[in-house]
Amino acid sequence: MISTVPVALQLAWFVSTVLFVIGLRRLSSPTRARTGIWCAGLGMLLAIASMFFHPELKANYFLILSAMSLGGLLSLLHARQVEMTSMPQMIALYNSLGGAAAAGIAMLVLLHVADYGPLVKALAVLSGLIGCIAFAGSFFAYLRLRGHFSRRDGFAKRQVAYLANGALVLLLGLILATSATAHPVLLFLFVALAVTFGLLMTLPTSAADMPVLISLYNALTGLAVAFDGLVLENPAMMVAGTIVFAAGSLLTRLMARAVNRRLSEIMYSGFGITADGLESSQARDHVNKIDARDAAVDMAFAGRVVIVPGYGMATAQAQHKLRELTQLLDERGVQTGFAIHPVAGRMPGHMNVLLAEAGVPYEKIQDLSDINSDFSQVDVVLVVGANDIVNPSARSDNDSPLFGMPVLDVDKAKRVIVLKRGDGTGYAGVENTLLFAPVTRVLFGDARETVQDLIMAIKGLD
Ligand code: NDP
Repeated sequence: MISTVPVALQLAWFVSTVLFVIGLRRLSSPTRARTGIWCAGLGMLLAIASMFFHPELKANYFLILSAMSLGGLLSLLHARQVEMTSMPQMIALYNSLGGAAAAGIAMLVLLHVADYGPLVKALAVLSGLIGCIAFAGSFFAYLRLRGHFSRRDGFAKRQVAYLANGALVLLLGLILATSATAHPVLLFLFVALAVTFGLLMTLPTSAADMPVLISLYNALTGLAVAFDGLVLENPAMMVAGTIVFAAGSLLTRLMARAVNRRLSEIMYSGFGITADGLESSQARDHVNKIDARDAAVDMAFAGRVVIVPGYGMATAQAQHKLRELTQLLDERGVQTGFAIHPVAGRMPGHMNVLLAEAGVPYEKIQDLSDINSDFSQVDVVLVVGANDIVNPSARSDNDSPLFGMPVLDVDKAKRVIVLKRGDGTGYAGVENTLLFAPVTRVLFGDARETVQDLIMAIKGLD
């Protein structure tokens, strides 16, 4: 019934759609990403505001405006306070809310089935199912990123429970989609089982697989929104949802390739595995240590230095200091660069965002596939708060949860200096054999402080 919608409203939806596309286009480059966010935000504002002029909006304006103001205020306050290091958790949480909102729209349709045809009901069931899975999965990812459930959780007969749950939720969906009257109890059961399905899918995920699932849930939220757009006959929602779905699917594919896994394997990988414990590291007692002065000499007199940032760099907020360090080394004629692993940190593109924020030139950054064969030519690799992404046992230890994930082969460089605080084992919770390699020296301390020490020591060499 789009044709019954006033032309001005259709035009507003068209402009929103164009703004979403431009926004996404600009997000593909770190230098233009900020304006991309503004464009997409403006598109969203226009899409929401225009709905108030919809001729069929027979709703309680007071409730709508109250909910929007409350949600807007809470998210504004939250976004202002959130630490840069908590950004991944925030994104997972908001994605879970997006999934819940999409499922909420579908639930409303299914509570008033008499008003809708079979196609709309089927779309609402799909949107409800996918939205609930995205909600549960993203919320679980949020808890994991906050440090809860840091191990794979298993229970006996999980496989049977998962399959039975899946079959039951599909059966309920079929009943709801074909029913002429509303069934609130069945609907409640459908939601509960869809949420449980999302949880069972995420529980057994191992460390290396988490980024892939986070991208997948992002794509699923987009798909649920796109189905809702079809249900509500709202083109802006259809396009926004489809864009998120398409971008999320591509990212999921890239992430899956980065950890060398198939999506089907990731969703089923934990079956039959009992909960695995975290290993404790013996780094402090058994590694070769180095002090800041010797590390500075190694770097200052090297021909080529490559920096590998990881989650610890984000925690320490050491990116600005690293930029300063590379400038100092560049002035001394050392060739410097950064190597970024696709799953470094705690969200896709985490390191790229932080380095762009610190003003590191884009051409200094290389990704795994470009640099991996070069490490034997590198004099010094400075690993800054990275662990899993440089763990050589991912290549050789069949029992490691990281096995099969391509890692940065920094152990092939002439020297490796690792900056870390203590015995932390990283996200996967397994010992990093790089720490005990003959080429490796460890400089203990918070990365921002140790990089500052390196800067001072290099300046002191003049
Ligand atoms: P890791 O979590 O493996 O390692 C972080 C390292 O940083 C640890 O060795 C820790 O040791 C050190 N560290 C922490 N804080 C500081 C600090 N202030 N100063 C110095 N060092 C510090 O990070 P990686 O980036 O290597 O790997 C990312 C992991 O996260 C992968 O397993 C990936 O699968 C997973 N993941 C990635 C997501 C993504 O989208 N990118 C999403 C979810 C999970 P110590 O405590 O001793 O200092």
